[in-house]
Amino acid sequence: MSEMKHLRVPNLEHRNFRNDDFWKEIPAWANVSRGEFSDHLWQQKNAIRKVEQVKKILGDKLDDAFLQDIMDAMHVVPMNIRITPYIFALMDWKDPANCPLRMQFLPIKSQLLPDHPFHMADSLAEDADMPVPMLTHRYPDKALFLPTTICPVYCSYCTRSRIIGGSTETVEKETYGANQKKWDDVFEYIVKTPQLEDIVVSGGDAYMLTPKQIRYIGENLLKIPHIRRIRLATKGIAIFPMKVLTDDAWVEAVSDIAKLGRAFGKQVVIHTHFSSTKEITKWSQMAMDRLFSLGIIVRNQAVLQAGVNDSIEEMVQLTRQVSYMNIQPYYVYMHDMVPGCEHLRTTLKEGEEIEKAVRGTTAGFNTPTFVCDLPGGGGKRHVASYEYYDEENGISVWKAPYVKPGQHFVYYDPIHKLSSEAQERWSDANIRKQMVDDALKKAGIK
Ligand code: SF4
Repeated sequence: MSEMKHLRVPNLEHRNFRNDDFWKEIPAWANVSRGEFSDHLWQQKNAIRKVEQVKKILGDKLDDAFLQDIMDAMHVVPMNIRITPYIFALMDWKDPANCPLRMQFLPIKSQLLPDHPFHMADSLAEDADMPVPMLTHRYPDKALFLPTTICPVYCSYCTRSRIIGGSTETVEKETYGANQKKWDDVFEYIVKTPQLEDIVVSGGDAYMLTPKQIRYIGENLLKIPHIRRIRLATKGIAIFPMKVLTDDAWVEAVSDIAKLGRAFGKQVVIHTHFSSTKEITKWSQMAMDRLFSLGIIVRNQAVLQAGVNDSIEEMVQLTRQVSYMNIQPYYVYMHDMVPGCEHLRTTLKEGEEIEKAVRGTTAGFNTPTFVCDLPGGGGKRHVASYEYYDEENGISVWKAPYVKPGQHFVYYDPIHKLSSEAQERWSDANIRKQMVDDALKKAGIK
């Protein structure tokens, strides 16, 4: 009994799933019935793809200055807008500037910051590790297949903003839709590479693959003897759960491939991306109930973002709530050093602190691993596994002995989060170089 006294009783908020008619607060959808709003085709048809729609849908709920702020951002950011009505209606339109959902999908110029001097369009160097188009092969036994670069939403923090979602005013992209005639080289490479066991089908988003394409990819991969695991990556469950509930053909295709996998003794799972508890409603839970009843395992990968989930409370709640829906929290990523999202990045120190606090709040298998996906292609490393970290100047040095033997990698904290003295140092290119050299020396590299 005395031990019991020390047990913390968590708040049980994570068991409550929002189930009100929240979309009726949006003037244009005040008369949309629950049945219509639940329909994946209605959601798709009414997705917001232009700033002008934002004004049309919100009417007087949106003030002109805020609208102008969005329009100004659209001239400079690397991502276009695409937002499902589900997510749009969940945004807090009384305080849009601070809404974690608005921040993820609808940028405003007043929050943007200059990119870090060492940012990279292809921060993870995926293109450099591409033996054939659409396939990144970095880890010995795993490859990343990108059959499409289209998604049901476009996220401001997208690590593949260089290719996803069509050209913007500042970035020319070779965005492509799913076309199975172009996948032969990918399958051929996988067949000829026997060390591969694990294929991530991402993009873009597996939600945008037709049932026929899901079956084609799944069957082709499963019949390769050395392939043991397939992961379908989709943000869909988080931003558009209605598809799981009403697009029976898509769900059946995924379920059939998972069943076929089981018959072959192989795994077919879904990886999804809930980054905020604000994305979660009763629909999310119902979608997960359906997938769970079909025996489909779902894991979650969140991105740590300032103003979205960079608090212990939010990350603990997110971890608990996705677990409660039978989604296994898998990774929380440090934000990649890609353009247009400096305002969303956190320091590595913040990542470490939140990691420390989350660990122990629930069972270990439901505790996400906080990782830094190393700029330059070193792969994912635990946030505390750096060789050296100069917290004052925001420079961490890393190695990835198995992935890239003999190489080192450097991750940088956002400059605006450093002390004013450190910010001053960063403004001078020579001092900047010296600071990086010093960090490398202290890491035993130079
Ligand atoms: S769903 Fe994934 S790939 Fe698509 S825009 Fe968002 S982060 Fe990028």
